[in-house]
Amino acid sequence: MRKPIIAGNWKMHKTMEEAVDFTEKVKGLVPSNAQVDTVICAPFLFLDRLVKEVNGYNVKIGAQTMHYEEKGAFTGEVSPAALKGIGVSHVILGHSERRELYNETDDSVNKKVLSAFRYGMIPIVCVGESLEQWENGETNEHVGNQVKRALQGLTEEQVKCLVIAYEPIWAIGTGKSSTAEGADEVCGHIRQVIENNFSKEAADAVRIQYGGSVKPENIRDFISCPNIDGALVGGASLDPDSFLALLEASI
Ligand code: PGA
Repeated sequence: MRKPIIAGNWKMHKTMEEAVDFTEKVKGLVPSNAQVDTVICAPFLFLDRLVKEVNGYNVKIGAQTMHYEEKGAFTGEVSPAALKGIGVSHVILGHSERRELYNETDDSVNKKVLSAFRYGMIPIVCVGESLEQWENGETNEHVGNQVKRALQGLTEEQVKCLVIAYEPIWAIGTGKSSTAEGADEVCGHIRQVIENNFSKEAADAVRIQYGGSVKPENIRDFISCPNIDGALVGGASLDPDSFLALLEASI
């Protein structure tokens, strides 16, 4: 049995005050340990404070990207060592907005995934197809290639503990989610790619989230699918009541 993992991706939303306010509201109400892993992926500036806020609660704090080098002349970047040093446990890598707007490539995502493991953080590796690829029936091929490239060089044990987020680009922030069956099929394909490239055990253990216009009203449809183990949620993770409703529905 894979434990569901719900991760909120706040993107570039909230001020420090709003971030702390949100976290104070939700941390005590998050369902207990055994049922669902809960992660809030916040802007860099809030991470240190939020890690302290959730100490002792069943909530983890994640970053939304990072550099792969330990240190160096990379103006404006944040290192894995810095994130690990303040207690960040998860990091979203290869989100389609990062790939599209900030030149993240399969190669840099792979370097970041390896680096996250070097620093003991769990990567949430995002993959997903464009509308055009979806319409042309190229989804499985594209997503499969992204997965293969992102996980190159990992050990089977590492693959077992990472998280993959399947997010069709056309479903992100559009209000137009994939059908649960469609998403499950792609997540099943991802599992097959992992089996082919690593092992059946790794494919059975890896957790795969769906992302793209997930909300309290539709999350159950997704996570009741055999290949979907949770959700990466943007818009609907910003409001505390909505975020708690997502968690409740995932148990
Ligand atoms: P959305 O974003 O839930 O607002 O569609 C998901 C994401 O980008 O991770």
